[in-house]
Parts: sequence; structure tokens; C-alpha cells
Amino acid sequence: MRREAGKVYLIGAGPGDPELVTLKAVRALGHADVVLIDDLVDRAVLVHAPRARVVPVGKRGGCKSTPQRFIEKLIVRLARRGQVVARVKGGDPFVFGRGGEEVLALAAAGIECSVVPGITAGVGVPAAFGIPVTHRDIARGVTFVTAHARDGAGPDWAALARTGTTLVIYMGMQHINAIAAALSAAGLAAMPAAVIERGTTVDERSVVDCVGGIAEAARAAGLGSPALIVIGEVVRMARSSERAQPLRRQA
Ligand code: SAH
Repeated sequence: MRREAGKVYLIGAGPGDPELVTLKAVRALGHADVVLIDDLVDRAVLVHAPRARVVPVGKRGGCKSTPQRFIEKLIVRLARRGQVVARVKGGDPFVFGRGGEEVLALAAAGIECSVVPGITAGVGVPAAFGIPVTHRDIARGVTFVTAHARDGAGPDWAALARTGTTLVIYMGMQHINAIAAALSAAGLAAMPAAVIERGTTVDERSVVDCVGGIAEAARAAGLGSPALIVIGEVVRMARSSERAQPLRRQA
């Protein structure tokens, strides 16, 4: 039986709050026959995919996860069967999301793919927390960096400290002691720092301190992944009382 080739939507679902999903993502989910969803994504987004079969494909660092190659093969197989596949990732699919690898795999297989951008956690989480990451006169820019590289090597923290940009660190919690020590040694010990866990969700937790104290503050508060570490003078502007309320789940 021959069927027409399907297509794939590579969708960013935003930082956590299901109301921070774009209208384009909602429309794409409405077309989906099957949804492959990452474990960072709130299942509430599935209400937009009423026709779809749901396949969870967790890929959380350090935990049991579905290998990337397997996910790529699965997407190709489903699309070749004529299915409309929605591949849903947290944040933006191309920011530390391995979306690029999936796009290459689909291109190699000759399958049509549309990318639906999402609000990356590094922008959306600080914003909802009241931190303007590039506030004029305080930060000349923002640097997104991961502490977790495949080769095990960390970034050059001293060089990053010299940029004068706000630092937004993804996947940093396993290395927070070493990161804070390296940035302190580079002269940033007194710089304001925040750790925001599960930002924009109903489970959000956070601490604000200085770089020299942030690792101990996060440990004392029991914070873990997924969390962002935000470093820079702009952290002083965080005003928790003015935060937008995330969507409450219906009981
Ligand atoms: N593609 C995603 C990032 C995936 S990497 C994006 O664009 O946001 C996963 C890392 O993102 C986590 O380890 C954490 O550092 C960060 N992250 C994702 N969602 C988060 C959230 N709601 N709150 C805090 N950090 C988050």
C-alpha cells in the first residue's frame, strides 16, 4: 500500500507555562496524527492535539532517556507512513534542543519539515521572573551557554566573565559549585546571581544571592534540574511580587 509522505513539525513549546505556547504551535498540533513529546514539556499542551497518538520520548540529562538516533529513526518511519508528526520540545527546538540534528536527519531522508520556534527558557524564565536580560546601561548583551558539553569540557568561564554580558547558563546544576568557583576566581564573586528551577510553571522555585553564595543557597533550598543559573547586575531587578501568574492546572 502506497501512501503520500507525511510531514513533520518541529515545535518549541516554550519555557514551561502551557500558555506560553505560540498560536502556530497550537495550529500544528491540531494537524498532528502523532505527537513525540519531550519530558520537559507540560502534558497540558496535548489538549491542542486531540486527534494524535502520544509518544513520550524523554531526553533529560543523566536520566533514562530515549537515544537521539532512535528518535530520529522513529520520526522518519512515521512520516514515511504518511503521518503528520509533531515533534514537541521544551523552549525553542534549536537552543540546546538537538533540533538541528533532527532537521538534518529529516533532510537526508527527504521528508518535509517545518520548524515552529518557541520561547527559549533562557529568555522566558528570566523575563517572567522580572529580569530584563539586556537592560540598557546594565548589560551590553546576553550570553547563553551550557555547562554540559558532549566532550565533558566546560566553557572558558574567565573569558565569559570578561564579556560584561548577562550569563544565562543552561544545564548547569550538576556543575554549579565549579561554575560559581570559576566565576568567583574571575572576579565575579559579588555579582548577583539567581537559580530558577521549573521557571514559569506552578512548581517554580528560586534563590537569589551573589555568585560567591549561589551554590550553597541553591543546595540549601534543594534546587535541582531543570534550572537556569542567571548571572549579572540585571538580577537585581528581579521582583517576585510582580511576576505573571502561571496557568493553574484544573483539579
Ligand atoms: N530547548 C530548551 C532547552 C533544553 S536544555 C529551551 O530552549 O529552553 C534543558 C535545560 O533548559 C534545562 O537543564 C534547564 O537548564 C533549562 N530549562 C528548560 N526549561 C526550564 C524551566 N522551565 N526553568 C528553568 N530552566 C529550564
